[in-house]
Amino acid sequence: MRSVLKISVSLLVCLTLLAGCQRNREQNADLFIFGTIIEIKLWGATPEQGDHAFSQLQEMFNGMHRDWHAWEPGRLTDINQAFAAGRPATADADIIEMIRRSQKMEQLSGGRFNAAIGGLIGLWGFHTSDYPVIGPPPSQANIDEILVHHPSSLDIRIDGLQVSSADPYVQLDFGGIAKGYAVDLAIRYLREQGITSAIVNAGGDLRAIGRHGDRPWNVAVKKPGGGIIGAVAVREDESLFTSGNYERFRQDQTERYPHILDPRTGWPVKDVASVTVIAAEGIVADAAATALVVAGIKGWPAVALALGLNQVLVVDEAGMVYLTPEMEQRMQFSGDVERVIVETNTLTRHIVTQ
Ligand code: ADP
Ligand code: MG
Repeated sequence: MRSVLKISVSLLVCLTLLAGCQRNREQNADLFIFGTIIEIKLWGATPEQGDHAFSQLQEMFNGMHRDWHAWEPGRLTDINQAFAAGRPATADADIIEMIRRSQKMEQLSGGRFNAAIGGLIGLWGFHTSDYPVIGPPPSQANIDEILVHHPSSLDIRIDGLQVSSADPYVQLDFGGIAKGYAVDLAIRYLREQGITSAIVNAGGDLRAIGRHGDRPWNVAVKKPGGGIIGAVAVREDESLFTSGNYERFRQDQTERYPHILDPRTGWPVKDVASVTVIAAEGIVADAAATALVVAGIKGWPAVALALGLNQVLVVDEAGMVYLTPEMEQRMQFSGDVERVIVETNTLTRHIVTQ
């Protein structure tokens, strides 16, 4: 996700009620969160429902930005300070939920997703909104200083709303999961308002429910470096998230160091350009896409299997596409795309040439 947390908060930049202003028309709003525009589309809601929902959602997003930021002072930085000092802290229900879900993703992904590596992410200079970060990588000695402690979200103890960490090097960074959770909370809110067809789309990372009138919602699958690989017709309630190594990175004279780190080495991961995951919940799709970038071109099928995911598309540094048979069925490719179908359960590969 766009560092949860970079961002200049908020503001309803644009609120467009499309012509007609009656039920069964589409209503759109562009809201801001985490430095990203979230486009919300509703189908079949009244203009009053739309107006109310858009302003409430912007309020909710402002609160998430404030409370979940990894480096601007707020609830999460307070918790990280308490961990560093060996003190317990009080969290709110949403932060507790993100900790629990992060713990599960860390466990299932064999540590490839790890929301406790805020120390390493900060060390690499990725606690910023200004990309690219210019300069050489941190020294191996500085990386090792954190790495030897093996910071893990599994070291966090949750007792009601109280959280504590046995390891002072545990520093939470929800950059890989918060956008997914934000999208889930937005969809939950819309449903509570009686809205049954909607899409909440943060620059191609999205969750959609219901339909766009008499057809499904159609969404694009992003291509590393810009453009789209193809489109997917959403079924009733689904999330589609892409994690990439091409937008945010550190750069020195010779090399690029992307912003997704392998928690086991403390270094950025390079052989994958992007991973797209379809799952029911945004929080799962978001965290899984990050985990599969870390798993790499060789490792992603086994990790996808461990995460219980069968709709995955991976693009390597050379632009080659690898995808599961279930994803192949869903994709309407834009033009000829050379690709390899990978069965995650048997790790069998079929080369597809169109
Ligand atoms: P994006 O939405 O920008 O493609 P991701 O969803 O993959 O990115 O999230 C990347 C962010 O997640 C990083 O900026 C950092 O805050 C955090 N992060 C980096 N590496 C990991 C990791 N291995 N596990 C969990 N979070 C990570
Ligand atoms: Mg992610």
